[in-house]
Amino acid sequence: MSIVGNITKINGVLENTPCKLVAVTKTRTVNELQEVYNAGLRIFGENRVQEMQEKYSQLPTDIQWHLIGHLQSNKVKYIAPYVTLIHSVDSLELLQEINKQASKNNRIIDCLLQVYIATEETKFGLDITELESILESDQIKSLNNIKIIGLMGMASNTDDKTQIRTEFKSLKNIFDKLVMKFKSSNVDLKEISMGMSGDYEIAIEEGSTLIRVGSAIFRS
Ligand SMILES: *Cc1c(COP(=O)(O)O)cnc(C)c1O
Repeated sequence: MSIVGNITKINGVLENTPCKLVAVTKTRTVNELQEVYNAGLRIFGENRVQEMQEKYSQLPTDIQWHLIGHLQSNKVKYIAPYVTLIHSVDSLELLQEINKQASKNNRIIDCLLQVYIATEETKFGLDITELESILESDQIKSLNNIKIIGLMGMASNTDDKTQIRTEFKSLKNIFDKLVMKFKSSNVDLKEISMGMSGDYEIAIEEGSTLIRVGSAIFRS
């Protein structure tokens, strides 16, 4: 199938759900991304800051750029002028740096906190204790140039659909717990970013609002 055909199929699954499609751009060329744009998608997710910079400068300006990969504090300044959502925030220090750079650009940058839900040891993310300690910290109250609008998680890289579903359920449970407990001028949890090419259908059933899909868009 073509890129257009693949996107049509994914959009069919998303129909009548509150979930949006983030087209994952890592390793793809600008020409491929222009095709995705022409097919109607406007939310692009990139893992690496430098690649995002290059693609951002060559593609139409109405694309919303989401940073989905691990972000180092010293790179925040490059994307702060335009990034729409950062999915991968995993520390208070990173939030403070995003706030500082957003302030320099007179912007408020939306962020998701990345939660550790997989059973593998390799994935980044916070556990429930760390999430609560960030959300109830005094420091967060003064960060007027960020807004925490949800959570992001990655399931284990496995074919075991039951395990994947359990991991997505755990993220939804954590979200439901936090959403009632924490609400302020800069914390308003609405989004759950979960689901990739191999597991987005399960993620949608378990309450995802943002699926991050790469290979399922580009495979022929
Ligand atoms: C690569 C990547 C995706 C998309 O993966 P696919 O399996 O190609 O859909 C989603 N989220 C993150 C954080 C990624 O690094």
